[in-house]
Amino acid sequence: MKCAIFGDVHANLEALEAVLADAAEQGATHPVCIGDVVGYNADPHECVARIRGLGCPVVKGNHDDEASVDTEIVGLNPLAQEALLWTRGHLTGEDKDWLRELRLVRQVRDFTVVHATLDTPGSWGYVLNKFDAMASFSYQFTQVCFFGHTHVPRFYVKGLSVAMESGSAISIEPGRKYFINVGSVGQPRDGDPRAAYALYDMDAGRVTVRRVEYDREAAQRKILEAGLPKQLAERLATGK
Ligand code: ZN
Repeated sequence: MKCAIFGDVHANLEALEAVLADAAEQGATHPVCIGDVVGYNADPHECVARIRGLGCPVVKGNHDDEASVDTEIVGLNPLAQEALLWTRGHLTGEDKDWLRELRLVRQVRDFTVVHATLDTPGSWGYVLNKFDAMASFSYQFTQVCFFGHTHVPRFYVKGLSVAMESGSAISIEPGRKYFINVGSVGQPRDGDPRAAYALYDMDAGRVTVRRVEYDREAAQRKILEAGLPKQLAERLATGK
């Protein structure tokens, strides 16, 4: 069985469709979303509808959380804030209900999914190094956990920290724990503008991060036409 674990879609429908098509081509039958369906890009409702339609497990990201309520936005940079206010105005009540009810952590089969960290999942901290990862490992009760939030794909093996390259893979070996950042579908920040997601071949015990080209110009055009900040369109070209 192959699972496609993806997240940080951030309302980029073109990137989402490209990732889902690639996952199907790779033989993945079980999609799993690690959150941040909305925020930043121009198709929040469409991405919610597409992912709801998959009927797959989804956990809540910080942008999903902020977009689904009407409270004052805290802890986000000005660019993210502006995009979130726009996003709130472009989601239906039903979209917001669905986002609000997402859980923070889920176990799927024999692995766990969370958006940010396992130690304090609702505080939206960033796992940027092996010390941050160690805090999550203390609360990880499955051998493998997938997460996102930093938009940078990376493997953490308990006790080690290894940067993950395009197309690189890791074997799941007995006696070790894996905390795996699947990167971002809709706004990569590791300098590679292609959409990222992880393919988990459960029978082979192997996780591969795939990078997928998508119609970036279309996504950029929609951002500008929506009146969202132009930096949000520009950053899709650099993957930063
Ligand atoms: Zn995100």
